[in-house]
Parts: sequence; C-alpha cells; structure tokens
Amino acid sequence: MNTALVWFRRDLRLADNPALSAALAAHECIVPVYVHAPHEEAPWSPGGASRWWLHHSLNSLDRDLRARGSALHVQDGDSLAKLRDLVVATGARAVYWNRVYEPAAIARDVDIKQALRDVGIDAKSFNAALLCEPWEIATASNGPYRVFTPYWRNLRARLQPHPPLPAPKRIPTASAATSTIDALGLLPRIRWDAGFDAAWQPGEAGAEAALQRFLDEAIGDYASARDVPSLAGTSRLSPHLHFGEIAPMRIAWELEQARCGGKESFLRELGWREFSHHLLFHFPHSAERNLNPAFDAYPWAPAAPRQVRRWQRGRTGIPIVDAGMRELWATGWMHNRVRMLVASFLTKNLRQHWLVGARWFWDTLVDADLANNTQGWQWTAGTGADAAPYFRIFNPVTQSERFDPDGAYVRRWVPELSAIDARSIHRPWTDPATLRRCGYPMPMIDLAASRGAALAGYDAVRHKN
Ligand code: FAD
Repeated sequence: MNTALVWFRRDLRLADNPALSAALAAHECIVPVYVHAPHEEAPWSPGGASRWWLHHSLNSLDRDLRARGSALHVQDGDSLAKLRDLVVATGARAVYWNRVYEPAAIARDVDIKQALRDVGIDAKSFNAALLCEPWEIATASNGPYRVFTPYWRNLRARLQPHPPLPAPKRIPTASAATSTIDALGLLPRIRWDAGFDAAWQPGEAGAEAALQRFLDEAIGDYASARDVPSLAGTSRLSPHLHFGEIAPMRIAWELEQARCGGKESFLRELGWREFSHHLLFHFPHSAERNLNPAFDAYPWAPAAPRQVRRWQRGRTGIPIVDAGMRELWATGWMHNRVRMLVASFLTKNLRQHWLVGARWFWDTLVDADLANNTQGWQWTAGTGADAAPYFRIFNPVTQSERFDPDGAYVRRWVPELSAIDARSIHRPWTDPATLRRCGYPMPMIDLAASRGAALAGYDAVRHKN
C-alpha cells in the first residue's frame, strides 16, 4: 500500500485542505494524525480557553473523518518521535502538513522536514492559513512592511481569490486509529467553561455556520456595525480562523461572489490578520519584546498584581472596561473595540507592561493567536508597527458614550449597573450613593491624572524615536 501521513495542526478541516488533498491525490492510503506537543510551542503553549476549543475541534475533525471511513490518530509527545513511530508502524512513505507561521513552530518544522528526508521519507508542506505567504510581500527596497496601509495595498492588488477545494468524499485509511482526545486532558478540571458551550460551535461545521450567518445577516452593515459591541455586527470567525477550521482564501472567495456592501471593509480586517503574521514572521522577537526599541526606555509602573487582578476580574470601576473583561471571562471572546479599550486602560492608565495583558488574553481567549495578539497589544500600547501614537490614549468614558450610547453592552455584562440611565451609565461614579447601592466599585484610578502620567512617561521615549 502506498501510504502517507497527514499531520493535522492548525488546519482542523477536511474541505479546502491542501495537504490532505495533495496526499489523497498521490497515495492510496492516508493516516490522519494529530500530535499534542504543547511543550514545543513554549512559552506560548495553548492557554485554558484555547485548550477547550482544541478539545472540541479535534472531536469534530475525528467525527468528520469517521464519516468518511477514516479516523484521527491522536498522539501525545514529541512531534518528530511520534511521526517517526507512525511512519514505521504504517509503512508510510511521505508526511504532508500545512504550515504554521509562529517562530517556535517554524524552527521545529524545519528540523522535522530535514529529519524525515534524511531517512528517505518525503515531507511536503503547504499554505492553508494565509492569503499570502509572509515572505511573498515586500517593500520596494525588498524588506518587510512596518506600516499597514501600503502593506495592504500591495496584498490587495495581488489577491485573486480562488474557489475552495472540496472535502474528500472518502478517505481510505491504512490502520484503525485509537482516538484518545479525552486522554489529552484539554478540558478544564474546574469547569469555568459553562458559558462557552452556549457561545460557540468549534469545528468545521461551526465555522461554516458562522460564515453563513455573517454573510446572511451582518456583512451589509459591517463597516458601521463592526464598532458597536452590543451588536452581532462582526463575524466571530476568529477562533475558527485560528484553528484553521476555515481558510481566509475561502472567505475571500465567498465575499467575491456576494453582492453586498461591507466586503472591502471586512477584507481589510482579514488584511490585518495577514499583516500580523507578516510582522511576526519577520520580527519573531516581537512576541516578547517591543517592536519599536525606543520603548525599551519607557518607564512602566512597577508590577501591581492587585490592580491587575481587578482588571482581570472586571472590577476596575470603569464600566466599559469591566464589561469587556467579563465578556472575555464568560465567553472566551471580546469585541475588538473593547479589546482596544481594556488594553489601553492596562498599558496607559495603569502603565502595566503590554505583556501582562497579552499573557492574560493568551489564557482566556478562544481565539488566542500569537500573531494577532502580539500585534493587537503592541499596537494599542504604542510599541508596535504602525502603532497608535502613544499620546493618543483612549478615553474609556467617551468611547463608551460613542460606541455603546444606550449602555446596552455595559448592562449585559455589568448587570449591577442595569438600572442606571443611559446618560450616567458610562460614568456612574458621579452618583456615589447609587453606586454603593449597586455594589459597584468607584474607579480604581483617576483617568485624567493617569493619562498625564502616561504622557510624561512618553517623554522618556520621544527623543529616542
Ligand atoms: P471580524 O471583525 O469579523 O474580522 C474578521 C477576521 O479578521 C477576524 O476573525 C480576525 O481573524 C481578523 N481580524 C479582525 N480584526 C483584526 C485585527 N485588529 N488584527 C488582526 N486580525 C484581525 N485577534 C485574534 O484573532 N486573536 C487574538 O489573540 C487577538 N488579540 C487581540 C488583542 C488586542 C489587544 C486587540 C486590540 C486585538 C486582538 N485581536 C485578536 C484582533 C481582533 O480583536 C479580533 O480578531 C476580532 O475581534 C475577532 O472578532 P471577529 O472574528 O468577529 O472579527
């Protein structure tokens, strides 16, 4: 039997999967395999919310494979060792996979490809996760981009969406899999995930449903509704994209077929995802260090675990910030506008290092993604590429008045404020007696004074820029 392994990683889908399609075209038999190796992703091994998603997404993939006569081989250990064992056990001649673009994964995969080839096993990798390989787009001087708009102009001009590859109808498989997804222990021991089941459907079918809902109900108004956190105005495709349950090219193709407004605006957001991957690929140190080294001189406030804890728990006393942090805790997701506000509050008002926030998001987001998370935090902190200028500090009160005018979002996530009228809900501290009755805290920090301190800190950086 001419057999190949298909090594699933961040491509947990059967349709539009180039590694799977190529393997099926060239081999009679396929062995689908997933190797759980979080130590190989350190220090960014999947956090709690990501592991929850992974558990359900692997189960979904396994079910879809079984419906086609196959099943997922689940392994736990070192990737290379497990792949080698399986190659020997099945007599496979080749290993196929789709690329992951994070620094630790790139280093590992380069080694694995070489090690397999050294023993005569063919190793082939494909792009299933990006509209464009990070190395294919370069500035006029052949360097990486650091500014989004020219990057996007370049990528947009060359983007030619193509139709997705169909899911295989049958997947001939060499040997019976013993699936042990439960044994990986991905679900939390203390079950904090109750709200997740109601909010999400991990897996390829869930990704498809999210895309269809978005195309049917939200794409037309996307350009304006995407900033309003009380509306279901965005796609909520981020965890599906992160785990590769759907490809961005597939989405771009559907957008091209659709006749409606909002398309360019939505495509541009996928462009931000591409840009984030471009940045992480070319500046791999940026997951831990300031992309703009001038900020190495920034006087962050000393570590303040108690303050950070209040931020994490949604008890800062700033309603929109608390609403966002509670939405995150309850559902594993937070609206993009609110992500910017809570990140600005932590890095500018509390002057805590952006990594403190990036690590909390890493553990609590179902869409935690090294490229997007790093870029989101560095952009908001002002330390990144194309960053918001440091002196532009979000005012969470005016932002709340503007993007949550009737307070619907705050009311949903901070129910103790639900009786407060729309005018006061964004700044409830103006009526301390009511606030006390609600059991909601006074603001933990003076917004104007802390803004001033953040700006003063910026002086230390300005002359290095
Ligand atoms: P939509 O508006 O429907 O956008 C469609 C897709 O485009 C998203 O699914 C996402 O893949 C991509 N996208 C949208 N906005 C951005 C953006 N600003 N940067 C990069 N890609 C984007 N996104 C993650 O996927 N994972 C993260 O870990 C993450 N961390 C973030 C941290 C901070 C501090 C900030 C400010 C943003 C972060 N984002 C992250 C980006 C953004 O908030 C989410 O992608 C978006 O809210 C997901 O919701 P959606 O799928 O409904 O987005």
